[in-house]
Amino acid sequence: PKVVFSGIQPTGVPHLGNYLGALRQWRKLQDEAAPDDTLLYSIVDLHAITIKQDPSQLRQWRKEMLASLYAMGLNPDRAVIFCQSAVPQHAELMWILSCNASMGYLSRMTQWKSKLALPSNANPLDPSPANKAALKLGLFSYPVLQAADILLYGTTHVPVGEDQAQHLEFTRDIANGFNHLFAPSPSAPLLVSPQTILSPAKRVMSLTEPTKKMSKSAPDPRSRILITDSKEEITKKIKTALTDSTRGISYDRESRPGVSNLLDIMYYMDESVASSPEALAVEMKDVSLKALKEKVAETIENSIKDVREKYEAVMNEEDKHDGYLAKEAEEGATRASKLASLTVIKVKEAMGMI
Ligand code: ATP
Ligand code: MG
Repeated sequence: PKVVFSGIQPTGVPHLGNYLGALRQWRKLQDEAAPDDTLLYSIVDLHAITIKQDPSQLRQWRKEMLASLYAMGLNPDRAVIFCQSAVPQHAELMWILSCNASMGYLSRMTQWKSKLALPSNANPLDPSPANKAALKLGLFSYPVLQAADILLYGTTHVPVGEDQAQHLEFTRDIANGFNHLFAPSPSAPLLVSPQTILSPAKRVMSLTEPTKKMSKSAPDPRSRILITDSKEEITKKIKTALTDSTRGISYDRESRPGVSNLLDIMYYMDESVASSPEALAVEMKDVSLKALKEKVAETIENSIKDVREKYEAVMNEEDKHDGYLAKEAEEGATRASKLASLTVIKVKEAMGMI
């Protein structure tokens, strides 16, 4: 049987990148799951705090993320949906794994550099003052927490966007290294090496800086379309999306990143519009940018409308029965914690701690 695990940070309402790169895949895996498969979807608040968070904002974002997951059609009867910080085994296994994680390997991970806007060749051990003050231990080591998240459940499949592929590679290396040291025999591994599942739309780009990926935590709200945005907001954001001054429409992610991103978004939001983003470009080659943008906005609105309406319904329910979302998440955490403790006990036994 499959064990699927994935996480999303409560750092804002999900955007089209989260939707196309991860959440839609989460729902597909849930809908196609066999009865004995296990699915775990986590709101990873321990990851969110690697960047400074305001407590009341974080509380609100956790609630909005839970509502977003339900709005996506993720179902607590079929998937274990929970907040990471409510399951203490995540932090516990992280410590154990971090005792065997190489600083050199971690320093080559690109994510912490992008969060600090450091150049890709930045070295964490570089003692320059700006670097030393900005880089927190938790941000540097969070791939180890991510490895713990996944390995805790014997996960076989991890559906994520492309930006996480490097961390998954790291997770497999941690698992193999740990098995090599502590597994009783190579045929009985303690930790399961997971497989990465990338969706076809694995990297949706920012609307305002189309050479960067769309992100919840990017400062400019016009850089992303949220799954809760109204028709007017969608239209306005697509209208102001950065493109170029070349005439006509063509697909080339290198030379026309803005236009290609719009074509990607339109195609992956509704694959019935063409056979590929490239084919869509050919079909629309003589259309004006203005007309393309109108089509893109319309396609997004038509495909996302149901999610927005479901989100509003969930939030209304929460307003009527205060704490209903928190209670659901608590039940998820209890189920997750039971599963997680099985791995932690095995690991501690193998290491001589039980
Ligand atoms: P933050 O800016 O706070 O890191 P984020 O938008 O990057 O937020 P995460 O919570 O870090 O979102 O990631 C949740 C999931 O969404 C991950 O699987 C990640 O790979 C995926 N994802 C994030 N951004 C994109 C994107 N632009 N395109 C495709 N997938 C994405
Ligand atoms: Mg991210």
